[in-house]
Formats: sequence, structure tokens, C-alpha cells
Amino acid sequence: MSDNVYSTICTGCNFGCGLYIRENDALKVDFRKSSPANAGKLCRFGMSLPRFYKPVKSIVDGKETTLDEAAKEAAKRISGSKGSVAFLSTGNTTGEEILAFQKIAESYLCTGANFEALPKDTYQTVSVGIPYSEIEAAKHIMLFIDPYEQYPLIVRRLLLAKNKGAKITAVWWKDLPLADENIRPNDVSKLQLTKDSVIIADFHPLSDIEQVKSVLSLARNAEAKVTFLKPFANSTGAYILSKDAKQKSLAQLIDDINKGTIKTLFALESDPSVLMPPETLSKLTNLIIQTGQEVSAKANVILAHEPLYKKKGTLINNEGRAQALGGAGTNGLDALGIIAGAKFDFNVLHESVKKAIGITAVDEFTIPKYDRPAYGTIQAAPKPLEAKPVLIDVYNPFMWNSLADDNDFVELNLNTVRALKLFKGGTLKIKSNGSAIEKKFRVAPVQDNVLLTGKRFGIEKGIITPVEISR
Ligand code: SF4
Repeated sequence: MSDNVYSTICTGCNFGCGLYIRENDALKVDFRKSSPANAGKLCRFGMSLPRFYKPVKSIVDGKETTLDEAAKEAAKRISGSKGSVAFLSTGNTTGEEILAFQKIAESYLCTGANFEALPKDTYQTVSVGIPYSEIEAAKHIMLFIDPYEQYPLIVRRLLLAKNKGAKITAVWWKDLPLADENIRPNDVSKLQLTKDSVIIADFHPLSDIEQVKSVLSLARNAEAKVTFLKPFANSTGAYILSKDAKQKSLAQLIDDINKGTIKTLFALESDPSVLMPPETLSKLTNLIIQTGQEVSAKANVILAHEPLYKKKGTLINNEGRAQALGGAGTNGLDALGIIAGAKFDFNVLHESVKKAIGITAVDEFTIPKYDRPAYGTIQAAPKPLEAKPVLIDVYNPFMWNSLADDNDFVELNLNTVRALKLFKGGTLKIKSNGSAIEKKFRVAPVQDNVLLTGKRFGIEKGIITPVEISR
């Protein structure tokens, strides 16, 4: 294999799909059929990786510089903001970098996950999912996600399960074609679960924590299996490796920036503009971003290290499978060393990653054994949707990664189209929080009063936004 072909993992979500990136004049994707998570198959985002890996340059206050100089400047600004600096990394980088980052971030670490709001004994269940083979072998699968939109490669596993006789129940705002039974989230009490059920939900920085607790509670009461899919390539690694670190939730971080107690934010391979409103980001004195590709947030300092596919290191997918990246680059780790004031040794960090998941060698074909400890009773109070119009953002790999996609429309049902007297091929006016937009629409079997979107329009307040709609 020539030097410019990298065996790597897709960054679109935590499913762990393997592929090759071929680096010539332009980047190209090649299929890696031996990859155990996806057998070479990729979704639209995986195929769009060459677009995602848009080159980035190191910058200090608008001027181009070297990575080392940007790292020195970042170190200066971080030490000059003692007591008002926060560190954000949601898991889009190697386990080795995550461990190095934690050492710098002792004072204020945010992985984006709101673990503080969950009982400690659920941490492992939320962090590590079940092997995909157990999904294929399930007799009954309950979906709290839209697999086609959000985690597309799971569809293949669901269809295999269905071919073997599994019944699929979708608890979603839209009827899903592969489901045998479609239930709306407000009717969750009608669910019939047994020990043979497998629940598939997701967990991410914008998750409604009461909804997560409700899913955990359903699984516990029925003694069913539960697996939480996640949006970042190494979300599972970030959660396992940070489980003993003191962490703040994303909501807390946003609150602290809004209050002015956090003035400097250092984000590692995480685009804050995807996670926070622009008015929050504008309150920062210093936004420092270390990244391997262009991000949409406007940073004061950018540390441009190698893209993920060129890095050396380990990712852990949703099943807990350790996967080695096929690059040799460690300049991201070196930049973190400049900020820490001491060089990080890759080999030492790599040993710590392996130790944390109880393995002696990284082998993507063997899933390490994870304990799935029982957890106690959970009180959950998910808020039912009121019978008023809402816009629901269905977060997918394109949204999490700020990559343009051909989806500038909303989905709504025929009742809404008729009630508003909308024209075929026309548009819909959507108002929220003093902002108004006009969007094309598609008719789909969606719940009454619900508009679904796979693209952020900029008028949202979280995942579910109350709106006014008209022709
Ligand atoms: S399912 Fe996730 S990991 Fe797999 S190709 Fe799609 S975005 Fe990438």
C-alpha cells in the first residue's frame, strides 16, 4: 500500500465505520470491506469525508502562523486566564489526546455529556453500547432514534434482525418504514417490553436528560438490554477515559460563559458553534480551537494539527471496540504538550488507554469484555409534547459536523398542509423567538403539530423549539 493511503475510521458518528482515505491531489474514499463495524459500507456522510476534511491553518488573531507558535500563544492566554478558563472536547479525537487534554483541563473539563444528572451506576451503560451482533440477534427492537437519518449504518443491522424475525417498534415523531409498529413519544406508556427487548436510543451533549433517564428506567423495569448511540467518532472513548474526571455539563458551561465566569474556552476537535448559541460565544474574550479541519466558529487562536486520518492513536466505537488509526502523526499531542509545559509520551498514553478498557493490544476484531453493572430505580419526568407546533431538529452527522447537505426543508404531515392551505411546491413560514424563516416542505407521516428538520435553521432553542407556522 502506498504512503498516501490511510486506513481510518469515519468521524461522522460513534458507529466506528472503517474506510481508507486516499490522499492525492484531492482526497478520496475507498471502501474497507474487512472493517467489522460496517463491512466496507458507508453512509452519505462517510462518502462526504473528503468535503469534511477541509484544510485549516494555524492562526493567532487573524494572522497565519505555525502550529508551535499558535500553541505557545494558546498556552500564554490559558495561563493568563486562570480561574476563568474551560476546556471542551466531545470525543472527536484519539483516546491518547483525550488523556493529554484531561491533564491540561483539570480545572474545568466538559465532554459535553451531562453525567452529573445521571446516577453514577448508569455511567457504564450509557457510555458503552452492546455489540451489534446482539442487535442482529434480538427478538424485539425498540427505536428511540431515526436510524436512517441519525446513525445510518445501524439500518443494516436492523434489517438483518428483521429478516431473522425480530419485531421493530419505533417510538418516534414520524412513522419509520422498517418499523412493524410506530408509537409516538407521548404514548411511551403503551410500550410492551420484555427481557427479549433491545432498546436503541442516543446520548449526546444536547440530550434531554429526563428522556435518557426514562429510557434507562424502561430498560431496568423490563430487564431489557439498552444501547445508546453517540455522535462523535470517539464518544465512547471520551466517556470511559473521563469517567473519574470532574466534569461540567454543556448547559453549565454555557451558563458560566453567559455569566462571565468563563472568559477563555479551549476546544479540542470540537466546534463550539455547533454546541452553543452565537450570543454565548460572542461573550468569550478568547476562543482557542485545536482542530484538524476547518470549523465554523470564529476563533482568536487556531491550532491546526493533522486531520484525524493522519493521526496515530486509538478510537473506541459504540460497542467498545478499540480501533487503531492508520496514521503516524502526533503533532496534535505535541501541541498539547506545549500548552501543558511538558511533552506527552504517546506510548505512555497509549498504555493508559489500553489499561482503561482492559486490553493488552488493540484488535478491532475483538470486543473487550465490559461489565454492565445493574443500576437502581430511576425517577424520570420526561415532558410530553403539548398540542402546539414545534420544530424538532433531528441531529445527524451533517449537523454535528456543520457540513452542508441537500436538506433545506421541513417534514410535516398532510393534516398540517391542509390546515394551513399550503401549496404543493410552495413554502411554509416558521416563526420563533422573534425570528422568521421561510422553508420548503415535504409531506411525511409525521405527528400532528410537528415539523422535522435535518438541518439547523438558526431559530432553534435546543432540539425542540416551539414555533408559529403559517402559509
Ligand atoms: S454510520 Fe456514522 S460512522 Fe458510519 S459512515 Fe455513517 S456517519 Fe460514518
